[in-house]
Amino acid sequence: MSNDAIRLRSLTRRYRSGGASVTALDQVSLAFPTGTFTAVMGPSGSGKSTLLQCAAGLDRPASGSVTVGDTELTGLSETKLTLLRRERIGFVFQAFNLLPSLTAEQNVALPLRMAGRRPRKTQVREVLDQVGLGDRTRHRPTQLSGGQQQRVALARALITRPDVLFGDEPTGALDSGTSREVLTLLRGMVDRDAQTIIMVTHDPVAASYADRVVFLVDGRVNDELIGACAEDIASRMTRLEAAPC
Ligand code: ADP
Repeated sequence: MSNDAIRLRSLTRRYRSGGASVTALDQVSLAFPTGTFTAVMGPSGSGKSTLLQCAAGLDRPASGSVTVGDTELTGLSETKLTLLRRERIGFVFQAFNLLPSLTAEQNVALPLRMAGRRPRKTQVREVLDQVGLGDRTRHRPTQLSGGQQQRVALARALITRPDVLFGDEPTGALDSGTSREVLTLLRGMVDRDAQTIIMVTHDPVAASYADRVVFLVDGRVNDELIGACAEDIASRMTRLEAAPC
C-alpha cells in the first residue's frame, strides 16, 4: 500500500480551441502523501484549474492516470466516478457555493443526503464544531460573514471524511485577517487529523501555510519549494511571471 493519498502519472489534457489544440497539462506526474498540504501556483493559463479538475475526477485527461488511494480513476464509469467524488473527495471554492435557503447544518448535511444517507445530528454538529461554528448551526449563509460561510463550506467538504480536500482559491474572496483564520484551520486539519489538502492559490501568504508549493508553467511542473516563507514564494512567482514564453 502506498502512503500517497493521491497520485498523478503523466497527466495530459488538451483542449480544442477553434481549430487549434491547447495542451493545458503536459505529462504532469505528482504524488501527494497522506497528511500533507500542497499549494499549486503558476501564472494565469498555466494549467492549475485543469490539474485540480482532473485530479478531483471532474474532468477526464487525454492520457495518464489519477489514483486516489488504491483506486485508479481512469476507466471508472461516470456512476462510479460520481460515487468516488461524493465519498472520497472534498472541494471548497472561492465563492463558497452554499445553498442560501438552507441553514449551516442543512448545508453541511447535504453531501450525506445526496448519497442517500441519513446524517446524524451529532455528526453534523461535530464537524461544525471542528470549524468553530458550533454556535451558528441554524444560521443561513446571508446571516454569516464571508469567513464563516467558508467555514461552513469546509465543514460540508469534510462531513464525508474525504481522502483529499481540494481548494480552488478558497481564500480568494476573504480579507487577509479572515484568510489567515481559514488557513490556520486548514493547517490544523493536516497536522491534527492527517487530512490531505491540495489548494490552488495566487497568494504567496496562503501558499506559505502549505508544506510544499508546486509551480506550474505551460502545463508542466516547473519547480517546487518545500517549507518556504511567503517572501520566497512571492519572488519565485515574480520570476516565473517575468520569464519569456
Ligand atoms: P489556470 O488555472 O492556471 O489559469 P487553466 O487550467 O484554466 O489555467 O488553463 C490552462 C490552458 O488551457 C490555458 O491555455 C487555457 O486557455 C486553456 N483552457 C482551459 N479551459 C479551456 C476550455 N474549456 N477550452 C479551451 N481551452 C481551455
